[in-house]
Amino acid sequence: MSNSLMTASEAQSAAARVMARCDALAEISENEEGLTRVYLSPEQLRANARVAEWMQAAGMTTWQDAVGNICGRYESAEPGAKALLLGSHLDTVRNAGRYDGMLGVLSAIETVQWLHERQQRLPLAIEIVGFGDEEGTRFGITLLGSRGITGTWPESWLAHPDGNGTTVAEAMQDVGLDGAKIMQAARDVNDIAAYLELHIEQGPCLEQEDLALGVVTAINGARRLNCCFVGEAGHAGTVPMTHRQDALAAAAEWMVFVEQTTREQGPQLVATVGTLSCLPGAVNVIPGEVQLSLDVRGPQDEPLERLQSLLLNQAEAIARRRGLTFTANEYYRIAATACDARLQQALSHAVETVQGRSLSLPSGAGHDAIAIAERWPVGMLFVRNHRGISHHPAESVQATDVAQGVQAYVQAVCDLARG
Ligand SMILES: [Zn+2]
Repeated sequence: MSNSLMTASEAQSAAARVMARCDALAEISENEEGLTRVYLSPEQLRANARVAEWMQAAGMTTWQDAVGNICGRYESAEPGAKALLLGSHLDTVRNAGRYDGMLGVLSAIETVQWLHERQQRLPLAIEIVGFGDEEGTRFGITLLGSRGITGTWPESWLAHPDGNGTTVAEAMQDVGLDGAKIMQAARDVNDIAAYLELHIEQGPCLEQEDLALGVVTAINGARRLNCCFVGEAGHAGTVPMTHRQDALAAAAEWMVFVEQTTREQGPQLVATVGTLSCLPGAVNVIPGEVQLSLDVRGPQDEPLERLQSLLLNQAEAIARRRGLTFTANEYYRIAATACDARLQQALSHAVETVQGRSLSLPSGAGHDAIAIAERWPVGMLFVRNHRGISHHPAESVQATDVAQGVQAYVQAVCDLARG
């Protein structure tokens, strides 16, 4: 449909505005030398106020919801219709980059701005949300903003303290929110048709493929385990090699297996041993016990499950052969989040129009879409970022890529809203 295409020069101006606004939001930080903006801080309120102004300039009505998300609505041709929800987060990690999260919110505003300038109303309303907490920087618990919208805040969250002992409930009070009213942020399942999120890739795939944009197939599921090999400590000088139960040698053998086997499963699965501690830990003592962590991730739960069993079975086999014991305790698990097929299709079609071909890829990092997917279909559009660097001041994107991103976003939103 020709009236759902943003021209290249319109996209350039939109991207220039997005870049300038990312810079403006990067100034709203708790410290001068870097960018740190955490949930329920004065900086969050200031960022929300700026974003609300930009939403209003794009013809939206705005409100801050009961958990502190900044929200806007661009009414449909028929007032009160369901909304297509576009969003991302406005909080950051400590010493963050300026695009992770913010790029998605500001690109969404450009999409609405373009419709507004054309006085175009779609069969669906377009809503935008800037989530107050995705990163979990302040409280160590994540997705507080999106779980406000889904109405799935566990009761225990209100009493959860930050590093200074301030609870979520107290911090809410400090910014004029009421912990007793968080359920008011929850949206009726019938209010929203679907959720789209534009985000920087935070990985190297698009750059390797020389593409500005890609479409996310799924957000990786993850499991984390504490593992332990127990053998027997002994004198490094007197115990013969044939009589040893060296826990570190067993762990080393297993770690090589973890790396090789995961690689053989294809490029989408990753496994990492990120910590290792060796007891008693002396130069002249055979290691009797090794504690190590295992982190495995992948875009589908079943292959992930298979990989995990393969790795753990082999650890047990290694331990048995060497006369040791092996134990593993899974302490964290999040299921993979599949992106909706119809939304992927609409995004891929838009990306093909804009850059000639589309690339489908999983997301290695977590996003607000994980929480939203519990209620509504989700789709994600990735924009290339330089060397995949994120959560770092060196995070960068090119304005030309952002222009293509906004162009694709406009087309996908128009196509989806028109059904
Ligand atoms: Zn993010």
